[in-house]
Amino acid sequence: MGTVLISKKTAANLFKESNTLLEELRSKGVKPGLAVILVGNNPASELYIKKKKIACDELSITFELLRFDEKVSQEKILQTIDKLNNKETINAILVQLPLPKNFDTPKILNTISPLKDVDGFTAFNLGLLNYEKEEIVSCTAQGIVRLLESTGTVIEGSNACIVNHSIVVGRPLSQLLLNRGATVTICHSKTTDLAMHTKNADILITAVGKPKLINGTMVKSGAIVIDAGIAKENGKTVGDVDFESVKDIASYITPVPGGIGPMTIACLVFNVAKLAMLHNSA
Ligand code: NAP
Repeated sequence: MGTVLISKKTAANLFKESNTLLEELRSKGVKPGLAVILVGNNPASELYIKKKKIACDELSITFELLRFDEKVSQEKILQTIDKLNNKETINAILVQLPLPKNFDTPKILNTISPLKDVDGFTAFNLGLLNYEKEEIVSCTAQGIVRLLESTGTVIEGSNACIVNHSIVVGRPLSQLLLNRGATVTICHSKTTDLAMHTKNADILITAVGKPKLINGTMVKSGAIVIDAGIAKENGKTVGDVDFESVKDIASYITPVPGGIGPMTIACLVFNVAKLAMLHNSA
């Protein structure tokens, strides 16, 4: 059986690294603050926000949650972001996705100042990745690469396949892997023969939210399989990978839960610390 790649230790190390940055700020009398905008009452979003708050509390980061009814106007959200962009005590702004369907998500995300864009979803921070500048990088994409690197895997020269093309995971991740010399294939719902691409991958990363999308027949022997998908099946949290059929084929496989989720949270606090350092370095 391949190694089950639990992220607890790598996530804890990143918490420690973030705390070192935060201690330096505290010694200068700076208390970093994260503002989170939540629209509606999606149960999954509520759960993610709870986890983000726990992580912030652990590192004494001020956590300001701004809740809005799903009937709130887009204009009100844009005004709120504008106020937060100018608020001295807030270093980092996060808009919890998904937003209701009638919202212009790109417009809202791009109203966040790139200097407070903790998720790295603004066109500015996403664009920097094309220039191989990894300043503020998507927490999930960054978390995946950090976990991959913790295994000592050589990314340069590998074939990497990503099943997802969103700005949250697939697009920033493709840049991070390209920046490290991988040959990257990006798959999505219109990919005609998914298995053909996944079977060629030395590093296979999936983030779809469809249980058992990836099974053992779709995985190359010895591949590293990273499962960032999250779905509910029979009341249990599961990923995209059929763990039982893949675990003996892969060299490493991440579990769900306990794989990418904790890395995403650890990268969030790291990004808050990094933004706060940037604000206070001038
Ligand atoms: P999203 O924007 O809905 O992305 C889903 C992706 O899956 C899209 O690229 C979509 O392609 C693709 N897809 C859908 N059906 C497919 C199929 N049958 N075959 C191949 N690709 C298919 O959502 P997201 O925000 O990126 O999140 C994706 C998943 O990752 C969700 O399960 C989410 O919960 C999880 N996630 C986990 C973490 C974590 O910390 N572990 C963080 C973020 C997200 P099309 O656009 O062509 O439909």
